Amino acid sequence: MPENKEIVLRGIAAAPGICIGKAYLVDREGVNVIRRYHLADAELEDEKDRFKTAVKKSTEELRSIIEETPEDFREHAAILETHVALLRDKMLYGKAIERIEEEKINAEWALKNVVSELKGMFSSMSDAYFRERAADVVHVSDRIMRNLIGKERVNIKNIDKRVILVATDLSPAETSQIQLERIKGFVTDGGGVTSHTGIIARTLQIPAVLGLNNASRIIRNDDIIVVDGTDGTLIVNPRDYTLVEYEERKSRYERQKSLITRTGRHSAATKDNIHIQVMGNIELPEEVFLVRDNGGNGIGLYRTEFQYLQSSGFPSEDELFDKYRDVVEIMAPHPVTIRTLDINGDKAASYTGSLDEANPALGLRAIRYCLTRPDVFRTQLRAILRAAAFGSVRILFPMISGLNEVLEAKKFLAQAAGSLAEEGKTFRADIETGIMIEVPSAVVIADLLAEEVDFFSIGTNDLIQYALAIDRGNRYVSHLYQPLHPAVLRMIRQVTAAAEEKNIRVSMCGEMAGDPIYIPVLLGLGISELSMTPQAIPAVKNTVRSLNMGECRDFSREIFSKTGDREAREFLDKHYGYITEQIYFG
Ligand code: PEP
Ligand code: MG
Repeated sequence: MPENKEIVLRGIAAAPGICIGKAYLVDREGVNVIRRYHLADAELEDEKDRFKTAVKKSTEELRSIIEETPEDFREHAAILETHVALLRDKMLYGKAIERIEEEKINAEWALKNVVSELKGMFSSMSDAYFRERAADVVHVSDRIMRNLIGKERVNIKNIDKRVILVATDLSPAETSQIQLERIKGFVTDGGGVTSHTGIIARTLQIPAVLGLNNASRIIRNDDIIVVDGTDGTLIVNPRDYTLVEYEERKSRYERQKSLITRTGRHSAATKDNIHIQVMGNIELPEEVFLVRDNGGNGIGLYRTEFQYLQSSGFPSEDELFDKYRDVVEIMAPHPVTIRTLDINGDKAASYTGSLDEANPALGLRAIRYCLTRPDVFRTQLRAILRAAAFGSVRILFPMISGLNEVLEAKKFLAQAAGSLAEEGKTFRADIETGIMIEVPSAVVIADLLAEEVDFFSIGTNDLIQYALAIDRGNRYVSHLYQPLHPAVLRMIRQVTAAAEEKNIRVSMCGEMAGDPIYIPVLLGLGISELSMTPQAIPAVKNTVRSLNMGECRDFSREIFSKTGDREAREFLDKHYGYITEQIYFG
């Protein structure tokens, strides 16, 4: 690939914002993802130079390892010396250069082919010494390959430069290790907009573009890249005028963001004076400050599983209680909605034991897991009830698919209160109890469930995944992940209608609630509380203030005449399209 050619890639806009900086590749898949591409005659010299540079870098790396090897390990250093020699071997170095030239192919592919021939040749030799050389060839070529692709295994926590991460994929746990003062933003080949990776990026307030397919192959370490998380664009090696354009777009975005953030504490009432509670979702206790500073009216979703994911074993009751109490006290008098452990699925902790499930998203996760682990569930429920004595707490059960799960969970809650009372502990039992509506069966029986709880919280991330059969983290189907799909809108309407009938509250804490463009539809459908990544709060409040509830209700009735998500989106853009541009760029 020729140097410094501007390349524009389109992916999923996962976290808004714009950043410009040097790429830093994080490779979790090693160097096995090698593809072949053809080169024009004019590109061959550059490609050979690229290969030579990678070999030179590999030689330097090996030399410095040899120098740093203590006397006692000289034998090991001798092996490395043979690797240095191999780097220049005609059979490897010479042949790879020849292949690039003759077959007009990229250096990675040429190296891969030469290595596989060499390996075959050495492995079939009868002499053990030569057979072992096959392993040396692999070590050496891996090193060259890493330098060619610019990939290396990186511990995100240890990155000490101001960079933009480029990865094939990042797990939620890795993403939560990102050091804000170092990492400007990130891009990945995989991922979907409601993957937990995307959610964490929004919470951290760093621009992110996901689902780029082959970004980690195209980008090399230290390439200058531009990440526009507002529209999902990634630009590699931007030309000067592109840079100027994006610097300008970045300042406009930041200016507008700080203007809107300053209005975060204003209340969110529509023009016809209907108050909407706009709250924050948090993963870790520290994020409570983000909610407070962005003007959140409480925590609508505390994803408590992240404390479990960060720990090496199940946290104790006191460890949980300490964190919950902090959050509750900081947020008081505003409510904190503590969701019980939503573990497994894409959020598996290593110590829960490998379940070996073919479909973890449909497996023993969330409430299902807790009901099979009374010890784990009780510990958490006791910690929540104890924290409730320090402010306003609501409890929320995830992944409810039937009435029995609610009844059982409530029984556990009552038992937890009973045991605390017996022990004479300080706690509070009369707290609001709610359930996540994120499994289609819960929508269908919303009328039955409403009898048993004080509120519903619609989790569109999973609800859309399960109702439309679209893996929320799968980039190949992310274009089908449509909150305006008529089936999704009908489900929301069914839930709000059932809740209204039984006089209980409905909030929404899925990502749909944090995207300003959907607010007119959600208000019109009867959602009275919205919870989102903290940084979205000011923009959503701002949007609420620009709306008239009567008009939203009329609009949401009309949107049901649209038979597809595209028609619905066009209709929405026609009436409320101003929202997106105004929120991001003023
Ligand atoms: C949801 O499913 O919409 C939700 C809010 O829960 P989570 O994203 O943690 O699965
Ligand atoms: Mg969910």
